[in-house]
Amino acid sequence: MMLICAALSSLGCGADKPIQKSDMVMDTVVTLSASGAEAEAAVTEGMARLHELEKLVSPQLPDSDVSRLVQMAGSGQWVELHPEVYHLLAVAQDYAAKTNGAFDVTAKPLVDLWGVGTDHSRVPSPAEIAKAQKLVGWQKLELDEKTHSARLTEAGMGVDVGGIAKGMAADEVRKIYRRHGIKDGLLNLGGSSIYALGVNGEGQPWRIGLRHPRKDDAQEKIAVMPLTDEALSTSGDYERFFEEDGQRYHHIIDPRLGRPAQSGLMSVTITAADKLEDAGLLTDLLTTAVFVLGPEQGARFLRTMPSGISGALIDSRYQLWTTHDMAQRLEEVSQELQFWQESGEWQ
Ligand code: AMP
Ligand code: MG
Repeated sequence: MMLICAALSSLGCGADKPIQKSDMVMDTVVTLSASGAEAEAAVTEGMARLHELEKLVSPQLPDSDVSRLVQMAGSGQWVELHPEVYHLLAVAQDYAAKTNGAFDVTAKPLVDLWGVGTDHSRVPSPAEIAKAQKLVGWQKLELDEKTHSARLTEAGMGVDVGGIAKGMAADEVRKIYRRHGIKDGLLNLGGSSIYALGVNGEGQPWRIGLRHPRKDDAQEKIAVMPLTDEALSTSGDYERFFEEDGQRYHHIIDPRLGRPAQSGLMSVTITAADKLEDAGLLTDLLTTAVFVLGPEQGARFLRTMPSGISGALIDSRYQLWTTHDMAQRLEEVSQELQFWQESGEWQ
């Protein structure tokens, strides 16, 4: 408490003043803030919950649910999972089917082969890609709802929840905030998964800057999204990538092609209303999926989603594709961007 008071001295330290804590979780800096009588408890419990969830999904820990599932691949054995992890995989499988495998948590052998973001990133040979692809396929991840169990049908398969775990974690912290009656607060998981409740310290909607996809400075914005009682995620080809022969190879893989998606997009931002179940998980999953699908298919897919979900897609020509009410809500939109209108004209 002393430390937090010191850090927030400019805000004061009364019971209803914002509380804020940051920590490394899931390889990223997480900052939780909250206002209200129980803010301190909510933020402390929220952070503890994040560490707990990390232990369930970490590929580095041999007894995490994800590791146990991978260790048993091809053995025929079912692996019982914690309810949160089972739910995560069930939603992932639902959307793998809906996106015809554009989103696929079994893409792990391909993610490892390209190694984007590691010290062994490289362009693999077509033969290596074909070999890894044999071990990828969402239909080869089987789930049993009655026992909350899963199994991978072939030895050598893997599971990578890097595209959805932060969104699910945000939902879990949001539940803790609800239990503590928190109306105003911000959950920021590495800048790419955000959950905004109520208003900020000035009584205004939270303002989330959408990062410029081609400026090295992470603070450079291309637009601003006011956010209240909503989750927001962004996926971009600038987050992790390497370049070879003038070509950018990033961390979002098109499992059907076995290589980083070249769908014509640079970034995808999606918001989901707090009233929707799994709002954080959905935004995290959908940004990755829509990035693979590309602007036309991705926007079409998003338009089939319930109201409360909306997207902003920036393609490589700086054209902004929006769904639902996103076009009306974005502010400080850079002049570099052209809006795509449903009528089929750029403005
Ligand atoms: P995000 O930054 O949320 O779009 O997630 C990207 C991460 O998800 C990557 O670093 C991989 O761990 C994983 N991933 C990459 N491609 C896919 C895919 N097509 N489907 C599911 N997960 C993926
Ligand atoms: Mg994602």
